[in-house]
Order: sequence, then C-alpha cells, then structure tokens
Amino acid sequence: MSEVFVRVALDHPLPTLFDYRCDTAERVAPGMLVSVPFGKRHVVGLVCEVTTHSDVPAERLRAVNHVCTACPPVSAEWLALTAFAADYYQRGLGEVALPALPQALRDASRWSRLFAPEERYSLTAQGRVALPETLPARASALRKLARALTEAEFLIAADARALHPKAIATLDAWLAEGWVALEVVEAAEVLATPASPDTPAPTLPTLTDEQASAVEAIRDANGFAPFLLHGVTGSGKTEVYLRALAEILAAKPDAQALVLVPEINLTPQFESAFRARFAALEGTSIVTLHSGLAEGERARNWFAAHTGRARIVLGTRLAVLASLPKLAIIVVDEEHDPAYKQQEGLRYSARDLAIYRAKQLGLPVVLGSATPSLESWWQADQGRYKRLTLSRRAVAEAVLPTVKLIDLEEERRRGRASVEGLSGPLIAALKARLERGEQSLVFLNRRGYAPQLACDACGWVAGCPRCSAYVVLHKPERALRCHHCGWEARIPRSCPECGNVDIAPMGRGTQRVEETLASAVPGARVLRIDADSTRRKGSAQALFSDVHAGEVDILVGTQMIAKGHDFQRVSLVGVLNADTALFSHDFRASERLFAQLMQVSGRAGRGGLPGEVLVQTRYPRHALYHALGRHDYVGFANSTLAERRDAHLPPFVYQALLRAEGRTLEAALAFLQQAAAALTEIPAAERVTVYDAVPLTIVKVMHVHRAQLLIESASRAALQATLRAWQPKLRGLKGVLRWNLEVDPLDI
Ligand code: ADP
Ligand code: ZN
Ligand code: ZN
Repeated sequence: MSEVFVRVALDHPLPTLFDYRCDTAERVAPGMLVSVPFGKRHVVGLVCEVTTHSDVPAERLRAVNHVCTACPPVSAEWLALTAFAADYYQRGLGEVALPALPQALRDASRWSRLFAPEERYSLTAQGRVALPETLPARASALRKLARALTEAEFLIAADARALHPKAIATLDAWLAEGWVALEVVEAAEVLATPASPDTPAPTLPTLTDEQASAVEAIRDANGFAPFLLHGVTGSGKTEVYLRALAEILAAKPDAQALVLVPEINLTPQFESAFRARFAALEGTSIVTLHSGLAEGERARNWFAAHTGRARIVLGTRLAVLASLPKLAIIVVDEEHDPAYKQQEGLRYSARDLAIYRAKQLGLPVVLGSATPSLESWWQADQGRYKRLTLSRRAVAEAVLPTVKLIDLEEERRRGRASVEGLSGPLIAALKARLERGEQSLVFLNRRGYAPQLACDACGWVAGCPRCSAYVVLHKPERALRCHHCGWEARIPRSCPECGNVDIAPMGRGTQRVEETLASAVPGARVLRIDADSTRRKGSAQALFSDVHAGEVDILVGTQMIAKGHDFQRVSLVGVLNADTALFSHDFRASERLFAQLMQVSGRAGRGGLPGEVLVQTRYPRHALYHALGRHDYVGFANSTLAERRDAHLPPFVYQALLRAEGRTLEAALAFLQQAAAALTEIPAAERVTVYDAVPLTIVKVMHVHRAQLLIESASRAALQATLRAWQPKLRGLKGVLRWNLEVDPLDI
C-alpha cells in the first residue's frame, strides 16, 4: 500500500499549505479536519488535498495525529469559496477557512463529544396550559426557562444548563408532572422542528402587485441572478424574502437558504417571522449563526447547516461563510449596511462574498434595501443586477412620513426657547405624541453623556493618556471613557491643570438627551438604547420588546434604533446632531448619513398612524436634507454617483488601503513610503495611482501611531495583480509593529 500525504491549511499568515504524512486508521479526504503537530503545539487544520507524493523530504515530514470523523468533510465548493476570499482579500487560505469554522471544531480534544447525541426537552400540550399558571410571580429563573421552552419549541439540555445551573432538576420535575417530554436525538437532528401536522397554515397577506412581481422574478430566475430589491421602508421586503424562500424550498425538498441581516439585534425579529411562516412546512428547521451564540450552540447550528438538516440559515456577516451543501438562494437584507464589512482580521465584505458565492453556484441572490449602496445601485444601472422596486408601503393606510427641517439658526435668531439642544418645535411635537398615547423616537449618533469634559478657565479638555482623542463622559457609570481603547477613569472633581471646580460637559450624547427628555417632557417614559445600555447578552431584545409592548413613550438611541425594527406605534422621529457628517473628509459620509436618516425616518408611521420626522439642523438648505424630505433616494443616488464619477471615486475606481502601526508616527510613515517605493518595481502597478502616506484622523490609539497609504485603479484586475506582487515585498520591510492590507475599504 502506498503512503498517503495530506496538504493542510492552517490558521497561519504564511499563504502556503503544509504537508503531513497520514497513516491514521481513519480514512482521510479533502475537506476533513485533522489535528497536526505544528512547532511545539498541536493545531487543527483543514485537509485541502490528499496525495501519494510530497516534495518535503521524508525526514522533515511529520504525521497527522487525528482525523476528525465526527464531522463530514466540507465540500469542494466551500474550499473554492474560501480560496477565492483568501486570494481576493490577500490572506492565507487557512486564515480564512479556519476562523470560518465554529470555535468548538477547532479544538481537537472536543471532537469526540461535540456532535454526540443530545437530550432535548419539549413542552407537552398539558404543559403549555399548566406551566404559565403555576409559575410563581418572582421566580425569574423559572420564567426564563419556561419562556425559552415556549419560544423555541424545545430546549437542548446543554442550553438549559447554560440558562441556569439548576435547570435540569427543574425540567425533570416538570417531566414528572407531564408538562415536558424528553427525547434523545442525533446532533444533526437536534434542531429540526418536530413535525407537527396540526400546526395551522399561517394566513398570508395578499401581496401587492409590486411584491408579487418581485417574488415571481426571483422564483423564475435561472442560474446566477443578482437582484437589487429597492423597497421604501415598510414596503414589505421581508414578505418578498419569505415568499421567494417558500417557493424555492417547496420546489426542492432538500434546498437550503441563507439569509443575512446586518445586526444581531435584528435576528430575533427575523427568526420569529421565519419560524411562524415555516412551522407548517414539515422539517423546515431554521438555525441562526451569529457571534452572540454560545459556543456549543453555534457549533450545533453550524453542523445542522453543514449536514443539510437546517433548511434556513439566518445570520450576521460571518454566516456568509457557513457550509451549506444544498444552498439554493441567498438574501442580504439592508445590503448597504456598513456592518457587512468586517473591520479586523480578514477584512471582507459579506455582501460581496454573497454575490461571489451565488455566482460560483449559479444561484439567485437578493440584495434588499431602502437605500442601496451606491456600488450596488451602479451595478443595477449597468444592468448587471436586476432591479426590483417596491415604491409604496405595503400596509394600505401606512404612508411615508412627512419630513420637516427645524432651522436652528432661525430658532436662535427669533429667540425661541430650547432646552439643552432640544428645540421648541421638537419638544412640542414630543408632548403632543405623549398626549395621544403615541410613541416617539429620538435619534443621535453619539453615545455617552457628553463627548468632552472641559475647563472654561484654562481650556483643558479631558483626553485619553493612550490615544490622541478626547474621552467621553459617561454619567450613569460616573466615568470618563475612551471610545477607542477602553481606558477609563473617574470623573475629576476639579480641573487637573488649574484646580477650577467648574469643569463642564460639552456637547451631547444619548445619556444627556435621555436626561433632558425626562425633564422637558414631563410624564414621558424614556428609554435609551445604545451600545452601553445593551451590553449584557439579551438586554437589547428585552428593551426592544418593551418598546413593542408600549411600555415606552420616547425611545432615544444611536443607529441601533434606526435599523429594521417594525415599530407599530411610532409616529414621530426626531433627529439631532446630524450636521456633523455633512462636512466629513470621508467621501462616503454623506451616503451613510442619508441611508441612516432614511432608515430612521422609516420607523415612523408604519402602523397606519401618520408619521412625522423633525430634523434639527443649521443647514436646512443642504441638498441631502432636501432629498430626504422628498424621500428621493433615486435623485440622491444619481447625483452622488455623478459626483463620484467626476471625482474618480468608487464605484468608478477600485481601492486598497495599506495601514501601518508604529511606535512613532515617523516609523509608520517611513514604512508606507518604502512600501510605495516598492510599487515601482511591479509592472501591474503602472495602472495604479498611489497617494501620499497620511496619518489617520485619530493618529494614536493605545500608544500606537497609525498611518495609511491609499492606492487605486480603474481596473480591478490591475489592482489585484499589484496587491499579489506587493505582499511578499511588504513582508520584507521592517520598522513597524503591524501592517495590514484592506481591499475595498469603506472608511478612508
Ligand atoms: P421593510 O422591510 O420593507 O421596511 P417590512 O417587511 O418590515 O418592510 O414590512 C412592513 C409591514 O408591512 C410589516 O408589518 C408587514 O407585516 C406588512 N406587510 C408586508 N407585506 C404586506 C402585504 N402584502 N399586505 C399587508 N401587510 C404587509
Ligand atoms: Zn483648568
Ligand atoms: Zn484611548
């Protein structure tokens, strides 16, 4: 018998595969995981090739320790997808493929237990009635358990234990009462919804004509078919996804669908809509994949997708690389959202990879948005994506809100009263909503209490000792906090420079607005939702359900409240502090601002109440606000694209960014200059424009100085060829702590 060798991808910056001898008893195939020695450690790698020959001398070849037999191999298509991503984003294959697998799979010591049979509890008909009635009012742990059982149909023992240490004892007591049933199931089957033929088919809304033709177009698509579903807020894009999926999944009994959402907080809303819709379609199990899941849960969900048991995978950007052997359609909701771009490690765009994946497999892919990215809009202009339009709100009574601008200069000139940055008209409108029992939403994109703490006497401003940035005042936490490195300190009683005790917060963040609203609109129940108020797992969902339940009159928050939520009783949206983004040096700032304002405006007037949006501004004549007032995405997109074309900006050129981090700014800049010089030796770089190396806006973070070099080309191929040739040269350069390359950067 001839010897067997494997070529293995490891999570390592060197873009090569590593050869090993494989003489284990288990059979090995490409796409399987192996545990191998690497230096002094043992690591998990992915087999890319199995051969009978290796160029590595026999005495230097080491042997595979184990082959993971618990997990069937990933497909050749999946390997090709990660190879493409690695090549396009200038990374090693293993650096892309291995982090795309659940963490639990990358620990060989857990392989034997990982996908073992599981115990699963489900509520019986008797329990469904009896359980809620017998729960003591204050037993919050019990309630949590009961809620988890009711919501998810069943509960896996391991997950129950994670909820509460005594959960199993409780579940066993309920078992004795006959309130729950217990069964042992294979890991891959764990998530399949138990077939329940008595589940009544949901009543479906009658599609609008526009929705119907969108669904039809997606259903009838042949081969690779990218769609840009441009639908105003509240136009029922979700219904289009649901119907298209239902048709495709019903037509092919083993087909899988991948649905991407930009933010974890949107998954519960989607999950329940999808579960409700597909409960009647037997065996249609739905799993979620996002970073908020516990490790075991994520591994099981991934496994259910990988083995084809999960028919629908709902996830955030990382799910774009899930293993889905029977993938038949991909949906990217809110495709314009910057959250689809990973900002560290492999800096990929999940939206762009979704397109590539659909192309590779010859599938329909639906990009949905009320404000598509200009990249996607331009693709549609050129006929590469098919545009599907939903121009009206789906609910007959729901019309788009009216947008009014409150001219802050004018308010001041006329001497009209304002309270802490909240103008008179906005306060009056908030009060009116409160009287009518309607909800309002106040949006500003700055968390904390105040962005600065300053001394009037000497001009001191509290700054971060580790970064070139001011620190943000957080009042409830009684702390100064750096939003760049996490540095924290107590709020000083007096100015550390001159001793003046009159130091004052400057500017406004969500905490301060929350405080102001409580006194300016007496009697209103004000709730704040931002990254600070939702730090604990599950808290965002709890806060949002308070809003939906009508327990909140005014919701104040950052972009977290702007996205996707279908609030039924919000009739007023107030926008504060939007002007700062109008004059940013980042050419994408206005596109982002417009999308955010359209999104947040779209929260108003969804349930049939007439909606109103009030934007406080110093620049009421700005074109962006005018487009917003007319809900004119198309006009905004066309004029912005024309500007971009004139200025030779994306999507008319392709860009890449080299970032360097050094102990000094000089070191970082010197590295980038050498890097720029190295480009002159690369033939493909003749078609590439190289800009000057510049410091980042926040130049120092955690004592590290940062600078960047932008290169661009009208030819994507020339840029890619340049990057490929540039990498080895960059590896030869010294003098910085770190550097990284980003392809198609969003923040410049
Ligand atoms: P979008 O994602 O486009 O902002 P949603 O999918 O949230 O819009 O839909 C807005 C609302 O319209 C939801 O409450 C949804 O249930 C409802 N809806 C969608 N389609 C229809 C329809 N054809 N008839 C009636 N209501 C619909
Ligand atoms: Zn001072
Ligand atoms: Zn800092």
